Amino acid sequence: DWINFIEFFHHIIDRFEMTKPEYITFKRKLPNEALFVEMDEDKMTQILDNIISNAIKYSPEGGQITFRVKAQEESIVISISDQGLGIPKDKLKKIFERFYRVDKARTRQMGGTGLGLAIAKEMVEAHGGSISANSVEGKGTTINISLPFDRSLEDDWS
Ligand code: ATP
Ligand code: MG
Repeated sequence: DWINFIEFFHHIIDRFEMTKPEYITFKRKLPNEALFVEMDEDKMTQILDNIISNAIKYSPEGGQITFRVKAQEESIVISISDQGLGIPKDKLKKIFERFYRVDKARTRQMGGTGLGLAIAKEMVEAHGGSISANSVEGKGTTINISLPFDRSLEDDWS
C-alpha cells in the first residue's frame, strides 16, 4: 500500500510517547510535507517498534531519542538516534545477526532474544531497502533505514 510515511511515523512515535519512561525525551525532526512510500504497514510497524524499543532500553536517564526523516531523489532515510551506551565498532555488523547480543552480561537483565534487528533487517530488505548502524561507545547509537522512494511521483500527489 501507499502510505504517507510521515503521518505513519508520527503515530508510532505518539504511541511510544505514552508509555516511555519519563526520564527519556523524544525529539522529532520530521518534514512537514507528506511523503508517500509503498510498504506493508504492519511489517514497518514491527521494524520501527523494535528499533525504538532498543533505543529506550539502552538509553540512560536524561537521554534523548531523536527521530529524523530525510527524503532524497530515490530513497528516504529514517534514523533513530539515542544517547545510550553505544556499540563497539567491531560489533556493529553483528547486531543484525540472529540471536546476537553485544554483551551477554549487560544485556541479560534487559531481556530479549537478540532476534529483533535480524527480523528488522529481513523485513527492510523485503521492502527493497537497507538498514545500518552507526555508534560511538559511551555516546550513542543511530540506526538508519533507507527505503525506496520516488521524488518524481511526489509531485503527482500534490
Ligand atoms: P529482542 O529485540 O529480540 O527483544 P534484543 O533487543 O537483545 O532482543 P536486537 O534488537 O536484535 O536484540 O539487538 C541486538 C543487540 O544489539 C542487543 O542485544 C544489544 O546488545 C545491541 N543493541 C541494539 N540496539 C542498541 C542500541 N540502541 N544501543 C546499544 N546497543 C544496542
Ligand atoms: Mg531489540
